[in-house]
This record gives sequence, structure tokens and C-alpha cells, in this order.
Amino acid sequence: MKIVDYDLYAVPPRWLFLRIETDTGLVGWGEPVVEGRARTVRTAVEELMDTYLLGKDPLRIEDHWQTMYRGGFYRGGPVLMSAIAGVDQALWDIKGKHYDAPVHELLGGKARDRIRVYQWIGGDRPGGVADAAREKVEAGFTALKMNATSELRRVDSPDAVSRAVERLGAVREAVGPEVDIGVDFHGRVTKPMAKRLAEALSEHDPFFVEEPVLPEHNDALPQIAEHTSTPIATGERMFSRWDFKEVFEQGVVDVIQPDVSHAGGITEVNKIASMAEAYDVALAPHCPLGPIALASCLQVDASAPNALIQEQSLDIHYNETSDVLDYLADPSVFEYREGFVDIPDGPGLGVDIDVDVVEARAGHDDWHNPVWRHPDGSVAEW
Ligand SMILES: [Mg+2]
Repeated sequence: MKIVDYDLYAVPPRWLFLRIETDTGLVGWGEPVVEGRARTVRTAVEELMDTYLLGKDPLRIEDHWQTMYRGGFYRGGPVLMSAIAGVDQALWDIKGKHYDAPVHELLGGKARDRIRVYQWIGGDRPGGVADAAREKVEAGFTALKMNATSELRRVDSPDAVSRAVERLGAVREAVGPEVDIGVDFHGRVTKPMAKRLAEALSEHDPFFVEEPVLPEHNDALPQIAEHTSTPIATGERMFSRWDFKEVFEQGVVDVIQPDVSHAGGITEVNKIASMAEAYDVALAPHCPLGPIALASCLQVDASAPNALIQEQSLDIHYNETSDVLDYLADPSVFEYREGFVDIPDGPGLGVDIDVDVVEARAGHDDWHNPVWRHPDGSVAEW
């Protein structure tokens, strides 16, 4: 079997789909994207496909991964690792279809039948969270996630901390102690504020605090951990085993959140998950993305004994124009029941992408994240 062709489709709300075609007629789908940099990643994918993959046997995934990663001399980072991720997902999809097996079967088989999912509430500048939380719990979700705060100054007022605590408290009061509530600092909180905020939020027992600081400040995580017993999560902006090894050795992170569309795909995230297992760290793959990314996450979750929970983007605040189910021929594959989703059992990634919908909506690569500014005019983290 040989790879003979590929197509890339930039689709709303902010995703990029890759379709790899083989000479046997088998087709594989991947989702190589950095949100807001779809055009850049498209170019990186084209370079990988044209330089290394066209004409090759798609089944030799590990060799292709090594070639894409190491063959270019310069490596790592969001753009290249997301390009590799999408290609890797499509190759796994082809391999599964070739052997008529779901990807998880090829990774060792299911270690679970279903995985818990969490539901986003409240948007970028969190508001209306108590009502949204009640509504989502009534819909069956048992775990939620919200942003802790909008932008904060480098050292902000006690009031900014109190408002974040009150918001989480309102959600806790609305849903009770049985529902888990993840709180995302979104890398928009500086070290001094992260210490205060993590400590103050502990009162309402968050599920975890996520990205308490930007990944370039991971060296500050031990200081933050001293101020709270809340589990610490991070990893959506870390892209390989080599990016994760320092936080494993540091020993304060409890939950890692690699993104299967950013961190080198199924091949690499499966290895990161195994490393995490050795350090008693849980896996909760980041996935505010589309159906191919989510299906890829579920394939990794299936066989990872330390998988804790899965992010998914249904009704997330970014999905204003299209949602995660729109591109599926059979959306029931992502049916959420009692806060869980079943591991897809179909061949490959286990989802059937509706190519007519993809083609009809393609040509949408103009999403960029907002640039926030502080009252003094300086750039704030988003
Ligand atoms: Mg996050």
C-alpha cells in the first residue's frame, strides 16, 4: 500500500482536517491544527507530505514519525508537532481500517469501556456559571470546567481574587459536592497571583487547577503547590515527551493534558501517557477541537490505565459557527450518557467523516484568538 494523495480542509469554527488517500482506496483522517495558526500548520503539513510521505507505505507509522520529527534537524514546538500530529492520526486511521480494527486494539486493547467527559461552562470571561452548571448537570454531566478569571494584572487586588472565589463558590453551591469542577487559569495568571488564587479557591474543592502559570514558568509550579492541596494540571502547550520530562521529575503535577492534535499525535501522546503512569500522574487529554481530534483522544484513553477524564468541545464557547458533531456521518458515536462517552469500536479512529459537509464548509481559516489589553494599554495574556 502507498500514500498517493492528500487534501487539507480549513473548516469552521477553527479546525483543519487532513485526508490522506492510498492506492488501495483506503482513506485516513487527521486534525493537524494550532487554533489561530491554521494556515501556518497547513504549510507545515504540505511540507511533510511532499517531502517524506507521498509514495510511502502508510503502515510504517513509527518510522514516519521518527522521520518527520528527526529528519528536519529543527524540531518541536506547536506548529511542527501539530503538523506531525495530524499526519500521525491519519496514518493510524488507515492502519486500523487496513486491519479492520479500532486503533486502541492495535495499541494493546481496551483498558476501559468508556471514559468520563467534562463539559465547559462560562466562556472566556466567565459569567452565568451557576445557571450553566445546573443545566449541564441536569443534562447528565458529572464534571465541569470553567475559566477561573478573565485577565488579571501581574499583582492584582484582593477583589479580583474574591470574585474568582465567589464564582467557583456559586457553581459549587449549584451542583453540590458530587460534581467535579476543573478550574482553568489558562496561563493568564502570574506566579504571585497563582499562589493566592490556588490557595483561595481550595475552599470550594476544585477538581484541579489547570495551567496555573504559563508552561515557560513550570519551574514555579512547586511554589504554587506549596499553597494548595488541589491537584495541579498542565500540558496543553507542551508538545513531546521531552517537554514533559521536567515536570515529571519535578513531581508536583498530578494531571497532564497533552493535546493529541498538538503533541505529535496518537504515537507520541500514548508514550507521554506511559511516562506519566510511571510517575503516578493522570492523563486528561486537552481537546477543545473537532471530531477527529476527539476520536484520536478516545483511542489513547482506551488503552491508557491512567486516563482520568476527557475534554470535549460540545457547546464550548469557541464553537459558534459549527460544532463537534456537524462533520460526522453518524454523530451517535459521541453520545454522552451519564457523563461518559463510549470508546468508539469502529475500524481506525472509529468515526465516519462526512466529506460532503467538510467540502461544503472548507475555506475558513480566519479565526484568531482575541488580543486582550490591560487598562494601561499593555498586552495581557488571553
Ligand atoms: Mg486550558
